[in-house]
Amino acid sequence: MASAGTLHDAFIDELRDAYHAEKQVTKALPKMIKAASSDELREAFENHLEETKGQIARLEEVFASLDEKVKAKKCDGMAGILEEGKSAMEEDFDDLTMDATLIASAQRVEHYEMAAYGTLVAWAEAMGHTEAAELLQATLDEEKAADEKLTEIAQGGINTEAAAAAHPEQDGEDEDEPTPAPVAKRGAAKAVSAGKTKTSRR
Ligand code: ZN
Ligand code: FE
Ligand code: FE
Repeated sequence: MASAGTLHDAFIDELRDAYHAEKQVTKALPKMIKAASSDELREAFENHLEETKGQIARLEEVFASLDEKVKAKKCDGMAGILEEGKSAMEEDFDDLTMDATLIASAQRVEHYEMAAYGTLVAWAEAMGHTEAAELLQATLDEEKAADEKLTEIAQGGINTEAAAAAHPEQDGEDEDEPTPAPVAKRGAAKAVSAGKTKTSRR
């Protein structure tokens, strides 16, 4: 009778899943690079494509450090995320909206990867696989940095410019104008609901 699988087996399984996920990302990123209009965004994608190739090599090192053969196991989660990204790229959006959409898709990828590598690092540490843990941590750090870079690019102009094209009437430059606030920040909405700023505007 076969014995039940251990955390080590689950760990190897997740490594194979991550390996497959990264391979899928290297196929998707070139399409996203082509679809991007912003130079900064395109460069970020190009940079992350190179990083992703390095992450694949790093996973191969992880397998070697565990005396495991390099193997991929289909990652359905990443396939689904990339499929949604592909649908978004097929939409007829204006350039800025397409860039905002590409960022949205890419950040889903990064967060999924952060979840996967976060678990892998924790499990490697728990089982004393120190070399694997260090390699996986290096990739986790890259995924986090890629995610932060995307936030920076989105908030550095793409979102507000795309929003201005969507709502040209409410430029929001003039504080004195009684602008309606459908795009109000969360904090502001909270203040209103707490009754703090109810009558301060007219
Ligand atoms: Zn182990
Ligand atoms: Fe990655
Ligand atoms: Fe990534």
